[in-house]
Amino acid sequence: MELKNADVIIIGAGLTGLSIAYYLKRNGRSPIVIEKADKPGGVISTHSENGFIYESGPNTGVLSTPEIAALFDDLSGESILETANKDSAKRYIMKGGKWQAIPSGLLSAVATPLFTFSDKFRILGEPFRKPGMNPDESVADMVIRRMGRSFLDYAVDPFISGVYAGDPSILVTRYALPKLYALEHNYGSFIKGSIKKGREKKSEAEKKATREVFSAKGGLGTLISGLADATGNEKIVCGASGIKIEPGKSGFVVSFKSREGIDVTANSKTVISTAGSYNLPDLLPFLPVDALEPLLSLKYASVVQVAAGYKKWGGLHLDAFGGLVPSKENRDILGIFSPQSFPRQALKEEHSYLCSLAV
Ligand SMILES: Cc1cc2nc3c(=O)[nH]c(=O)nc-3n(C[C@H](O)[C@H](O)[C@H](O)COP(=O)(O)OP(=O)(O)OC[C@H]3O[C@@H](n4cnc5c(N)ncnc54)[C@H](O)[C@@H]3O)c2cc1C
Repeated sequence: MELKNADVIIIGAGLTGLSIAYYLKRNGRSPIVIEKADKPGGVISTHSENGFIYESGPNTGVLSTPEIAALFDDLSGESILETANKDSAKRYIMKGGKWQAIPSGLLSAVATPLFTFSDKFRILGEPFRKPGMNPDESVADMVIRRMGRSFLDYAVDPFISGVYAGDPSILVTRYALPKLYALEHNYGSFIKGSIKKGREKKSEAEKKATREVFSAKGGLGTLISGLADATGNEKIVCGASGIKIEPGKSGFVVSFKSREGIDVTANSKTVISTAGSYNLPDLLPFLPVDALEPLLSLKYASVVQVAAGYKKWGGLHLDAFGGLVPSKENRDILGIFSPQSFPRQALKEEHSYLCSLAV
């Protein structure tokens, strides 16, 4: 069987694949998405049980770019952006087995036990420190050089774990934290750069990058169903197996077995893979493995997420967005997130907790 009318074929129906398909369709193209799982969404999956909403993948994001707000605007009602309560701005970092609030002002920054006295003093000299010379400097080296070891251990390391489940001594700053890198590169200092950037006039689009924590009303699963509905569910082929991409007469031929066991082919000039790079040798059998080596050397972190719902909660006072656990604490746990930040999940006495474990 041949699938017709695909001018772009996208492999993978996670958030990346579906967003590409949706915007291609809005721009008059005709994409087809081929997914090996039984449903779209990739790592995003929301389900409801006994009045709780559980996210088994990501639970929130940060409105760090105008495009995120634009996506929700464009989906107009298919998925509704929900931002976290203002009082959830508080976050904790674990030190010596105890949760310590991240400083939110000058006084708390001076008093916090998270950073050493000498690093607190050293930070005053950050605006006068020379910029680095190595464009591929790791996050760890850059933060130690500019701010000191305790800032790496008890601010940047847990932040990096929360975002990438990654190791700051391996991640290269200009790729992992491009905005931080740009502060030193463009302004010579994190502090000077943050102040100057804060004063720069923002465009209407940039103002939408509010840095607020967001989810979607009803859970992030509505973002997936909204994108799939707006793209056209008939354009998303799930349950495909043995997917292969090979050069054809005019572009590429993608072949796979459908959920029903039928052999299917589709032709297209453009094929986009959003699957993890470790899938590429199977997807692209015509390419020698050596040619894929740079992509195959990418490291992926394994993360287990545990979500629990409580009808009655007698534990910690839930007054924060969550807490992160620095790797120095040797706990095999990346962090804990309290969905109380979103009113829909805070059903008076009912609480659900979610934590990510590094394995
Ligand atoms: C547990 C967890 C928690 C997270 N928490 C957050 C968070 O709180 N905030 C945040 O901003 N980000 C978070 N993230 C990251 C964020 O979820 C991802 O960056 C994003 O959802 C990735 O989307 P994607 O489409 O690129 O990849 P994926 O969601 O992995 O989708 C890739 C798709 O490709 C399919 N596929 C793979 N191989 C093939 C193949 N050979 N053929 C066909 N299809 C294939 C897969 O089945 C999958 O559906 C989290 C991630 C995880 C795993």
